[in-house]
Amino acid sequence: MRSSVIYELKARSDLWTGDCRGKPDRLVTTGLLGSIRWWFEVVVRGLGGMVCDPSGPGSCPDDSGRRCPTCEFFGCTGWARKFRFDVLDQHDMPQQIKKDNSFRFSFMPLRPIQPKEWALLDLTLRLIADYGAIGGKTVLKPSDEQNRQNEPHHKDYGLIQIERRPSDIQSFSVQMLEDYAARPCWRRVNQAGFAWASLANFWCVNGKYLARQNESFSSFNHLIGRPQPKRQSSGNDSWIAGRRPDRAHKVDAESKKVFSFKDPARTFGFVNGKDVTFDTMKTKLKCAWSDLADHEVKEGKAILKELLSGAAS
Ligand SMILES: [Zn+2]
Repeated sequence: MRSSVIYELKARSDLWTGDCRGKPDRLVTTGLLGSIRWWFEVVVRGLGGMVCDPSGPGSCPDDSGRRCPTCEFFGCTGWARKFRFDVLDQHDMPQQIKKDNSFRFSFMPLRPIQPKEWALLDLTLRLIADYGAIGGKTVLKPSDEQNRQNEPHHKDYGLIQIERRPSDIQSFSVQMLEDYAARPCWRRVNQAGFAWASLANFWCVNGKYLARQNESFSSFNHLIGRPQPKRQSSGNDSWIAGRRPDRAHKVDAESKKVFSFKDPARTFGFVNGKDVTFDTMKTKLKCAWSDLADHEVKEGKAILKELLSGAAS
């Protein structure tokens, strides 16, 4: 079996490493691993695969013991994770990671891992670094009950940069990874409710942010609207804005679909391919940034192509 796969990283902002509940020394790894898993799901769905919500009622395995590609790698009930994950700084396991800190992700194989699984992990980490953000596992979850992501302390957390990635990750074409994601051996998952969390629906604008207290944010906030807690999300604006939980009315929280970071500046989000398309999103974004050019809004498909062509070089 191969030795540990190491990514050397630098924090471009503080990282969100969990709240004060639970064992302090496990906060960093548990939260970050949950977030890596979430983005891995986004990647696999973007490649046409079907992936469960591991915390939802329909999580893997199914009655015949089949798993989705994410559970195959990250584990699920009755199936252990294929690797050990550690977060390390120069000395040990850091209690927290602050802006400009250097640190490492270490993935130590515990069982055989297929080259395509390493390739998907590599793709996931580069997506997070170049276009997304990494955080506590609930920050971006579709069914986040706490809905903490709307609180101010979640702003500007989780931007990372890859300083050095392993040189021996085998590269694959988009087609080859799509074939892997679509293998008939995987479980067929009903993705209703979280199918939006796919790279096919992802967009990112690097270098721009939505400020909280200036005109651009007000206009954007006005555009997306804020749904009343009691009401189900309906219409595209409330779908983008998400929803706070209302236990009395049995309404679950729903993640918002736009995330913005000021330093360094980055804004990303998701469309749903139905009432919220890339075109409707661009129109909304242009209300916030009148100088926005279409090519500044990078879409998931183009990002996938770019990341995989980089992998081949
Ligand atoms: Zn699964």
